[in-house]
Amino acid sequence: MSVRRTPRGTTALDRLREHYTDVDRLCSKCGHVDTEGSWSAKTTGSTVFYRHICPSCGAIETRTLSLK
Ligand SMILES: [Zn+2]
Repeated sequence: MSVRRTPRGTTALDRLREHYTDVDRLCSKCGHVDTEGSWSAKTTGSTVFYRHICPSCGAIETRTLSLK
């Protein structure tokens, strides 16, 4: 009997976070590409706030998404 991981944990929030982690690592301030960084996501229920801090210059990139 094997333990199978259900896809229940994959939410829209997870997919969006992966999207930003993969695509948006280029700092708009200094051009540093944070290849090991990731976005942190926080949600209030209807809105998702993403934040990424550039390890090179400390610039904070933010994104806000509405969940409908
Ligand atoms: Zn930077």
